[in-house]
Amino acid sequence: MQSLVPDEIIQMLQRQKYHLVGSHSAVKRCRWLYNSIVQGRTCYKQKFYGINSHQCLQMTPSVFHCTLGCVFCWRAQSGDNNLTWDETKLPEWDDPEDIIDGCIKEQKRILTGYKATPNADQTKRLEALTPKHAAISLTGEPTMYPHLDGLINGFHKRGFTTFLVSNGTIPEALSNLSEEPTQLYISVSAFAQSAFSKICRPHAKSSWKKLNETLELLPSFKCPTVIRFTLARHLNLEYPELFAELVKKANPTYLEPKAYMHVGFSRLRLNFSNMPTHSEIKDFGSKLATKLGYNMLDESPDSRVVLLSRLEKAIKLA
Ligand code: SF4
Repeated sequence: MQSLVPDEIIQMLQRQKYHLVGSHSAVKRCRWLYNSIVQGRTCYKQKFYGINSHQCLQMTPSVFHCTLGCVFCWRAQSGDNNLTWDETKLPEWDDPEDIIDGCIKEQKRILTGYKATPNADQTKRLEALTPKHAAISLTGEPTMYPHLDGLINGFHKRGFTTFLVSNGTIPEALSNLSEEPTQLYISVSAFAQSAFSKICRPHAKSSWKKLNETLELLPSFKCPTVIRFTLARHLNLEYPELFAELVKKANPTYLEPKAYMHVGFSRLRLNFSNMPTHSEIKDFGSKLATKLGYNMLDESPDSRVVLLSRLEKAIKLA
């Protein structure tokens, strides 16, 4: 595989069970795929929106690149472990159809071990060989991939639903989409420019302005929209009222306050004590809901996430 990043990073990602596809994409087994097939426990996306955990393919078309360097990110960032690369130097982009084929092939490889796994639900295992949902969200910023349209369209043509998770710093990539994802997520982790600089460490000065442009763009989408808050103690968890001001202009269908998880490369930047409990997330959610007039529709203590909306109940997508 040809890449612009040091070999050590590729080896580290492979040790962390990333399956690299082409030169800038990757698939990784979500722990809920295992939990669903082996333990009968499913993820919050199944509980909230009806997305089958065992048929969910978690991928990214931008495994090495992002416009931000969030302190809570589990991604390997230039500078981690003293390994550096130019995150703004972009690769030669692979064809979306090749990426999708490669991701499905890797997902099947991930599933091979389950045939012999004790307690694995074999009906679910067989269904899982035909994934139905693409979470374009694993890591990196997917809107940096210039053929995102083709990727979304390619998944939809194959009968997938898609959740696109973006940090919102490239509004033009979102406004130029000719095909919307099934659901669009924008991550918001800071309520003001100074906090954004400290928490999200943007590579470009204009990123805060661009994120705000994206929030203003959100009401123009036909698909359900979500603002995702990744919350860490002593970082951004303490300010639900300030986040409410930012959310107003985006008028999203849902809000998902979710706990920072002390995993991956984020362990180099934050401590275990930064990880909020579910009850802290619930408290944040209920203050935000009160301020905005949203309902608290659902919660998942396992994933430390709550779902807020003006709707009476969430739209089931599958
Ligand atoms: S925007 Fe997402 S991928 Fe990029 S640094 Fe932040 S958390 Fe990581």
